[in-house]
Amino acid sequence: MTAPCFVILGAGHAGTAAASAMRAAGFAGRIVMIGDDPHLPYERPPLSKEALRGADGAAPPIYPANFYADRAIELKLGQGATAIDPGAQVVTLTDGERIGFDKLLIATGARARRYPLLDALGEAAHVLRSADDARRLRAELVPGRRLLVVGGGVIGLEVAATASALGLSVEVIERAPRLLARGAPQPLADLLAQAHRDHDVALHCGVDLADASREGGMVRLTCAEGREFVGDLVVYGIGVTLNDELAAAAGLAMDDGILVDAQGRTSHPAIYAAGDIARQEQAFLGGAVRQETWANALHQGAAAARAMVTGEAGAHEVPWYWTDQFGVNYQVAGRIAAEQWITRMGPDGRPRMVFGLSQGVLTGAVGVDAGADMRILRKLIAQGARVDPAVLADPDVALRKMGKEIQSV
Ligand SMILES: Cc1cc2nc3c(=O)[nH]c(=O)nc-3n(C[C@H](O)[C@H](O)[C@H](O)COP(=O)(O)OP(=O)(O)OC[C@H]3O[C@@H](n4cnc5c(N)ncnc54)[C@H](O)[C@@H]3O)c2cc1C
Repeated sequence: MTAPCFVILGAGHAGTAAASAMRAAGFAGRIVMIGDDPHLPYERPPLSKEALRGADGAAPPIYPANFYADRAIELKLGQGATAIDPGAQVVTLTDGERIGFDKLLIATGARARRYPLLDALGEAAHVLRSADDARRLRAELVPGRRLLVVGGGVIGLEVAATASALGLSVEVIERAPRLLARGAPQPLADLLAQAHRDHDVALHCGVDLADASREGGMVRLTCAEGREFVGDLVVYGIGVTLNDELAAAAGLAMDDGILVDAQGRTSHPAIYAAGDIARQEQAFLGGAVRQETWANALHQGAAAARAMVTGEAGAHEVPWYWTDQFGVNYQVAGRIAAEQWITRMGPDGRPRMVFGLSQGVLTGAVGVDAGADMRILRKLIAQGARVDPAVLADPDVALRKMGKEIQSV
């Protein structure tokens, strides 16, 4: 009898977390991880932060090559899968190789959504999704140059902050009336807008681009109402396009992402999905959601892997993410919207935490350089804690103490 084979499609963060968790859960069969990116699996968060600050834009791998060899995880990098046959349980690769699977995890994530108007600018336009994108962009971030960032989401703002710290002059152009309109709490948008203004990054919201042209080494962006922005290069971050074509062709149930159950299982009993590509019911958020965060990729990848091995994925986490801008760490946990936001100031007279309350229950939080407190808050949010707004606002009440009191009620 041949050993069972688990195939992981996509060697990003979710795929890597899954491969590691399969072995940790005791799976002794064959594990094959397939990734079309030629580099050893790496995390993406550093691409808009440390990698752009470094000399060459390089991002370190998650694990060294021997990590995979030591665990007998077969890596097939630099080649994609071209088809999934759900009936025969076979994945076909670009070179024609066919790999049969007992179970398959789809962790193919997403790619940068393209903006043809800006792509027409050729090499003056950049997106940032892969290690190669970061290397190419890093070489262009020369002090004194003028950077136009199109898209005021997390990635656009991180690039703006990093480039500004490197000595470029930066303008951010956002179509929506506010920054981070796609899914971040208003307090985070307000805090980041202030931080960018404090660092002389020009923010332009509510701007619709109509034209983009290149004249010599210069880029000119023109808005519908005739306003113009001139720079030396453009980076745009306008969301993602899911790498979901193979899953759709395989007939899996989809709805802006591959639909998975609490175990990470798709509509096919032997096929699972995790990470940016997966949409999963989250009781806490009151529906099926797709998350594009590092923590979700790690947690969902490992959970699906455990379910593939043992049948049990384990508990869900309260959703959270972070962003680093101008040397400050911002974290967000829980729901994006709240009936009421309560601010707790820090000793420097600036907001340190903002708590979201709905019907008296703590449902979300934003923290500024408050990682330890955010860990406590994630637990309180998960418990559905009821906390007096006056207590939340009081910087003299330690969250650690609050957590203990609530647990002992
Ligand atoms: C620049 C940047 C900064 C970020 N910063 C933060 C942050 O600060 N905090 C945070 O919480 N999150 C951040 N994120 C988001 C986080 O990195 C993603 O949510 C996470 O990488 C998702 O992991 P994934 O494994 O699901 O997908 P991906 O990372 O997209 O990996 C999927 C992999 O599958 C490959 N693939 C696709 N199709 C195929 C195929 N047919 N065959 C083979 N391989 C295939 C892809 O090329 C890719 O390598 C950031 C993302 C970016 C791009």
